[in-house]
Amino acid sequence: MIRLPDDYKEYLAIYTTEYEDTYLLEAIVAADIYVLKNIVQNQSERLFEENFNYDVAEQGSTLFGTERIVKIRKLNKKIGDNLKLLYDYRCQICGKSIGEKYDSQVVEAHHIDYFVHSLNNDSNNQLIVCPNHHSIIHDVNPVFDRKRLIYIYPNGIKEGLVLNQHIG
Ligand SMILES: [Zn+2]
Ligand SMILES: [Zn+2]
Repeated sequence: MIRLPDDYKEYLAIYTTEYEDTYLLEAIVAADIYVLKNIVQNQSERLFEENFNYDVAEQGSTLFGTERIVKIRKLNKKIGDNLKLLYDYRCQICGKSIGEKYDSQVVEAHHIDYFVHSLNNDSNNQLIVCPNHHSIIHDVNPVFDRKRLIYIYPNGIKEGLVLNQHIG
């Protein structure tokens, strides 16, 4: 594996399509990431994640107005959507699917290292959490201990992942 400095990172996203033997390729080049970097600076992490988690803001969103950024949003959202499926719309921290009883799938993808700082949308930087845990994490900013896979909250409470198949 070759580690590239973040400024040189480029991606080739490969998406499945409605046709079994046809794939859609999309290149995300360093220039795209550079544009993104300028846009995300000083933006709210939650506002960005809202765009990755839900389609509500798709129309008229100024954050994702340019074609370059739309590409990156799409890749980020796909990774999150696949993880949500992997966990069957359950929170990795509490294991609950809080919308289940209402036929709702309101689970959300959270970036462990905030995306607006790290621009890291790798799956190992994304956790699938219920909206309650997501709000609490952004409210009190617990530290994520990657070795032990636990969140350590400022008041001393520690919470591990009851579900984990993708972070190691
Ligand atoms: Zn939860
Ligand atoms: Zn988050």
